[in-house]
Amino acid sequence: DANPFKKMPTILTPEELMDKAYRRGEKVASELRTTLIGVPKLLKSRTVEEHKIRTMASVVSDNLLKIISKTPSIDRLKPFYKELVEVMVGIDEFKKSLGAVKWASDLVKKLGNEYAKKARRAKTPKEASGFRREFVGRTASILKQIYPNLAFLAVAREKLKDLPTVKELPTLVIAGYPNVGKSTLLRKLTGAEPEINSYPFTTKGLNVGYIGEDIQVVDTPGVLDRPLYERNDIELQAVLALNYLANMILFVLDPSEYCGYSIEEQLNLLKEVSDLFKVPIIVAINKIDLVDGERLKEIEEKLKDYRVIKISADKDIGLDELKKIIVDELLRTE
Ligand code: GDP
Repeated sequence: DANPFKKMPTILTPEELMDKAYRRGEKVASELRTTLIGVPKLLKSRTVEEHKIRTMASVVSDNLLKIISKTPSIDRLKPFYKELVEVMVGIDEFKKSLGAVKWASDLVKKLGNEYAKKARRAKTPKEASGFRREFVGRTASILKQIYPNLAFLAVAREKLKDLPTVKELPTLVIAGYPNVGKSTLLRKLTGAEPEINSYPFTTKGLNVGYIGEDIQVVDTPGVLDRPLYERNDIELQAVLALNYLANMILFVLDPSEYCGYSIEEQLNLLKEVSDLFKVPIIVAINKIDLVDGERLKEIEEKLKDYRVIKISADKDIGLDELKKIIVDELLRTE
């Protein structure tokens, strides 16, 4: 259940990969030479060159194949991850690059076989080493050809390896301005310190906790905590990707305005969030220990369109009831 891109291997440059192949080829050749003492010169050079070629071919071809086998299949990703790949690197380009790597891997393997056979039947030692050099030249040029694809995958790997780890569980996403009490609430609801994950385009990451083993609760500092007009396209897409994660939104409101944002500002954000997400929303009026009944009524008046619950995350008021609503709603809609 971890970020599926964590397993992607380091991607070597064509030069690094050729170097690696070359060194391994030399090593095999020098080991072989010691066992071939006394063997006639032509037979010896045929054998050595054949094995050099086979070794280099398999180093290059296997290394490329490993990139593909350790990279998750895009089509089998959870929608949330798939959306993030699209936003961060582009699915088409990603698939195209993997396709190019596969092509190169297959071709180098095939050439390795062909040239190994040629070397084995060479008429002179010079011809045998000539076949090997030809093989090296063609392999280098194939790698040069997929250089843009390898570079793309290396960059993609850097970006994707830090995606958050989320589970495929019914998920509650917490939204609301900074300092309204979201992280306090996450801790109280899940009874634990959240796991902190990185999330693209925000410096603060996603905080993830669990209610029992069935429900995932995600707090998204820096993501659902300010108006959309303040965001660039990419940030908007990071927000939109949460659509693929959230089964329900808990919007936290601070009626005391101690958070530093007026009720009006908070209601505007609530409106944006509810327009953006197609899942049920609950509004939690938090910090009710800080405001009088009169004020609370006024605010509730403005929330008639929403399902509202009054709580204090800090003073443990209304939390059991809130938890019950969340569990009922999420385990029912599943
Ligand atoms: P976040 O930025 O939305 O995650 O907000 P925090 O959870 O960090 O809370 C911001 C501040 O509000 C902290 O000092 C909390 O202790 C305080 N706070 C959170 N919930 C309540 C509450 O119900 N009552 C009171 N009085 N303070 C609260």
